[in-house]
Amino acid sequence: MPAARATAAAARLRRAPASAAQPRELEQALVEQRMALAHAGVGIALIRDRRVVSCNQRFADIYGHAGPHEVNGLSSRTFYLSDEDFHALGVAAYPVMAAGQPYRAEHRQRRCSGESFWAHLTGTLIDPADTQRGSVWIVEDIDAQRAAQSALAEVREQHQIILDNAIVGIVFLRERRVTHCNRAFEELFGWGPGELDGRLSREWYFSDAEWEDAGRRCYEPFRKGEAFVGEMVLRHRDGRALDCEVRSKAVDPQRLELGSIWITMDITARKRAENALREVQADLERQVQERTEELHRTVQALEQKVAEQKVAEARIQRLAHFDALTGLPNRTLLEDRCRHTLHVAQRHDHPVALLFLDLDHFKTVNDSLGHRVGDAVLMGLARRLRSVVRAQDTVARLGGDEFVLLLPETDADGAAHVAQKILAAAQEPFEAYGHELTVTPSVGVALYPHDGDSLDTLSRAADAAMYRAKEDGRNTWRFFTAELQAHSDRALLLSNALRRALERNQLRLAYQPQMDLDSGRIVGAEALLRWRHPELGEVSPAEFIPIAESSGLIVTIGDWVLETAARQIAAWDQAGLPSLTLAVNVSSVQLRHSDLPQRVKRALDAAGVGVERLEVELTEGAAMRDPHGAVSVMNALYEQGTEISIDDFGTGYSSLAYLKKFPVAKLKIDRSFVHDLMRDAGDRAIVHAIISMATSLGMRTVAEGVETEAQLAFLRERGCHAMQGFLLSKALPGDEFSDFVRSRG
Ligand code: C2E
Ligand code: MG
Ligand code: MG
Repeated sequence: MPAARATAAAARLRRAPASAAQPRELEQALVEQRMALAHAGVGIALIRDRRVVSCNQRFADIYGHAGPHEVNGLSSRTFYLSDEDFHALGVAAYPVMAAGQPYRAEHRQRRCSGESFWAHLTGTLIDPADTQRGSVWIVEDIDAQRAAQSALAEVREQHQIILDNAIVGIVFLRERRVTHCNRAFEELFGWGPGELDGRLSREWYFSDAEWEDAGRRCYEPFRKGEAFVGEMVLRHRDGRALDCEVRSKAVDPQRLELGSIWITMDITARKRAENALREVQADLERQVQERTEELHRTVQALEQKVAEQKVAEARIQRLAHFDALTGLPNRTLLEDRCRHTLHVAQRHDHPVALLFLDLDHFKTVNDSLGHRVGDAVLMGLARRLRSVVRAQDTVARLGGDEFVLLLPETDADGAAHVAQKILAAAQEPFEAYGHELTVTPSVGVALYPHDGDSLDTLSRAADAAMYRAKEDGRNTWRFFTAELQAHSDRALLLSNALRRALERNQLRLAYQPQMDLDSGRIVGAEALLRWRHPELGEVSPAEFIPIAESSGLIVTIGDWVLETAARQIAAWDQAGLPSLTLAVNVSSVQLRHSDLPQRVKRALDAAGVGVERLEVELTEGAAMRDPHGAVSVMNALYEQGTEISIDDFGTGYSSLAYLKKFPVAKLKIDRSFVHDLMRDAGDRAIVHAIISMATSLGMRTVAEGVETEAQLAFLRERGCHAMQGFLLSKALPGDEFSDFVRSRG
């Protein structure tokens, strides 16, 4: 500004002395000039001969002087920092001024205090043609301005550095056009340096709609002076989509027209990484989910297994403690309950009753009608037994047709009452598969504490009482008695002693001769077991064989009998005796072992004796107890050449139909029939019938227990084939037997 006006004023100043118009006008002009000079915002000085001729107050102020009076007369050199500086200005300025042009420059100046400052100088020669007339200099103190400018420049420079080096794209927009952006922004969107300047920001949007939408979205935060922050999909110059994070802000919220700054960051890679991460995470979650489900399934399967296991265990438990057929407690559970019951009874001094029940001739039901019917009867009986006892009583099935009742807090009267009820309950016929049948039980009763104080002793007592009931005609019940006690005590004693009998050499065989009734010759013998115990003396096989059978000892003893008998045959042969057949008694227990034929054969082979020399005697009962099993063993015996005779024939319940199926060579007529032959017409009829029946079936007959000539005569007359009995001889030791045979010639 004032520079131009000051120049005009200086021109007037310059012209003033030349125009000598009217003194009043002149004076007026001078006053005006002085006013103008004094109030000019710039410093003005007239320099002549390098000295200040006059200056205004502002000039003095600029250079640090109190007023023009201090400045006038000063060398203009004082305003410069050095001689060179002063000189350089002169060299630069005078040619310009001499050409009639004002010289303008920014130059360092010096205040009177020595402080330097920037000044804008405009110098004009008063008369370019005559430099002697001096020059007018207008000085503006631009130090503050320069300082501000350089500060600004510095800031700009710093900004530029920041812009240039920012890894984010930065763009300044005004009216949505690029005013300025950094390289990173250009590179981000695929533009060359400066190519974006002046372009609409639409360039990096895919559509007008998106561009406008972005404008709308940032308007509100801009207006509030807040930053707009968001993620956008922006368009690369080549059409690629870039995932960008954008932050923008209005330069001045009050004046939105001043534009905005946008900081843009390519987050495509980050997005990709995030997506990958998300995928990995989703994958991981899926895997976890799958594993969890798998685990869940495994756990379920496991739980099911456990449940099945529990069911199986419960079943095993049931099987272990209950009888499969009737569902009644079995022996194991009975033992448990009995132990508990006796324990309680002992503590409270209560009586307990134990009842043994066995069905009479139940075998025949099974054998004649089949197991299905037999089972149905047992189940029916089980139900009835349960119905006659109290809830706290135990009805157990030991197997077969054997039942046990355990009655806590029951004395003799109570037990007798229950036994009666059992008999009554069994009387009603059972219906089974179209059959109506009646079974009769035999019941033995033992009482705690009188007859025993353990299941073992009470069982034996009840068992003995039950046998007594059977002996007394069946379908009845009996208490255990002192007599039975003695019997069972002896049974225990014998059983224990028998275990040692073999190893202690207490057993031997005696041989009872058998005579052929036609020829009168000794044709064979029956081997009979003898046991002499050092204290007990001679024990009858009728007494110890059942004990050996029930303890299972009979198998070992039976083997010993077979071996001894076979050796005896060999010994007799050696002694020159005529070839005899030796009959050996075989128990039903031995018959149950299917290898009986092999055992027989082994014994004979060991003695070097032919298999036809030994004959097996089976009691009628043994053969009939398990007709199916028995017949196969008997067939095997027959096939290997071992003859079979049926012992004690007539005492059992042989089914003729079965007898026909057995490979039986001989029937031994029981001695009870022979015994009463002369007195009892019935027995005579029976013996007669047996002989005729056997003959018609192609079997031979042997009569046992023949004691009198009359008996012998009867038998011979009826066509009996052979005999055995005291009439001929009692059983003899082996060597005596030889003598006997020889003596008979
Ligand atoms: P059993 O097989 O019927 O044997 C015949 C029994 O009648 C023998 O009794 C014999 O001594 C006896 N006895 C023979 N003649 C007469 C007579 O004229 N009158 C009388 N009253 N009795 C006579 P024992 O020796 O006491 O044998 C009894 C039962 O023991 C035998 O009956 C047999 O079933 C069994 N037994 C004997 N030895 C053995 C054996 O080694 N094994 C097996 N399992 N049982 C055997
Ligand atoms: Mg016999
Ligand atoms: Mg016999």
